[in-house]
Amino acid sequence: MSDILIQNGTTRSGDRVDIEIRDGTIETICAAGSGSVAAFDRADRFDADGRLVTPTFSEPHTHLDSALTVDVAGTNETGTLEEGWELWQACREQLDKSAVKRRAKRVIEWYVTHGVTRIRSHVDVTAPHWESVDALLEVREELSHLVDLQLVAFPIDSVVYDPETPDQLETALERGVDVVGGLPHGEATREAGVEHVQHVVDLADAYDRPLDLHIDETDDPNSRYTEVLAVETREREIGDRTTASHVTALHSYPNTYARAVVQLLADAGISVVTNPLSNAILQGRYDDFPRRRGHTRITALREHGVPVAIGQDDIVDSTYQYGDGDPLTAAHTLVHFAHLNLRHNVSALWEMLLEESAQVVGTRQYGLTPGSAGSLIVHGCTDPFDVLRTREPRALVVKDGVPVARNNRQLTILDDGKRPVDLSRRPE
Ligand SMILES: [Zn+2]
Repeated sequence: MSDILIQNGTTRSGDRVDIEIRDGTIETICAAGSGSVAAFDRADRFDADGRLVTPTFSEPHTHLDSALTVDVAGTNETGTLEEGWELWQACREQLDKSAVKRRAKRVIEWYVTHGVTRIRSHVDVTAPHWESVDALLEVREELSHLVDLQLVAFPIDSVVYDPETPDQLETALERGVDVVGGLPHGEATREAGVEHVQHVVDLADAYDRPLDLHIDETDDPNSRYTEVLAVETREREIGDRTTASHVTALHSYPNTYARAVVQLLADAGISVVTNPLSNAILQGRYDDFPRRRGHTRITALREHGVPVAIGQDDIVDSTYQYGDGDPLTAAHTLVHFAHLNLRHNVSALWEMLLEESAQVVGTRQYGLTPGSAGSLIVHGCTDPFDVLRTREPRALVVKDGVPVARNNRQLTILDDGKRPVDLSRRPE
């Protein structure tokens, strides 16, 4: 069963529509009330009751290998990224494939209920024994009816000074990991970081794979590897399949240099992922007062045509102990930390959540148009602003024409007057 009729949905531009999905693909979008109701069984029709309908969300950056490991890894007492890495390095010694699979599947279920059907997850390929790589490769197959999972070969150990790391990266790609990852600011010296970038760019070029680095995720204004990534990928003409994740140092660069880096990213065609939840708590940890926010320069990047996706990053691990896989929670945090609270920012936030995040993970058959995949969300409210404001549960999530999650909405009753309280609707 991959046919479904969504009746009376509202698009982001405010049109009321019916959406007919046949064989997993959107066949027709027409004015509400004019859909072929008789052609669909009652069980294959869903009344959106005027709620917002969008394509499903894409998660551009998470770590399913470490998700839900905080009880194993221990609690981060300093709140720094560095302590998070140290705790993970001890934790990864004891990974067990079946436990990694159980945790990853639970988090994917959370994602799906929030309307995410495409996920890019980094996996530490320098962890011993391949337990987490093999676990996530199996999960990718076993849950393919729920999500399209993409894996990034992420090296925590040094690419330059640890002799096994280059082989581990290549072996991961040969085992079926999709994307080349990197972590140049984790290297001991500037020169090693540059060599690290050059190594992973060469690898992505040689294997004809996308590239996605954790890069300049620090408050240190002297961490300057994004410029190297931009120039190296531009030279090989692979910038359009390259992602720079975090780039928080851009926040701390002098304006003149920041402008040059933004231009280099735009010229290379690179996308950026901002991870507002984790970076809100990881950055500024070495500052006294005033304390820097440590987010990348979103408005400047987008003004130069650089797509900026919104990622969740870690979920309940030693780096970030919160997280529930809801892109609307990440966007809501970004509203506050990036001063994106003005009314005209609403459309920018939706472009980042939808089109720009999809651009990182892949846009094959993406969109709400005839011929696109029948993967969509019926949200909890009608107005795109109210969806961001309330983060109401998604009413229905459909992947390739098949419903994969729905919310049986129960409103809380206010004891005073015994009235149900509805966050999603304002008084007439
Ligand atoms: Zn990350």
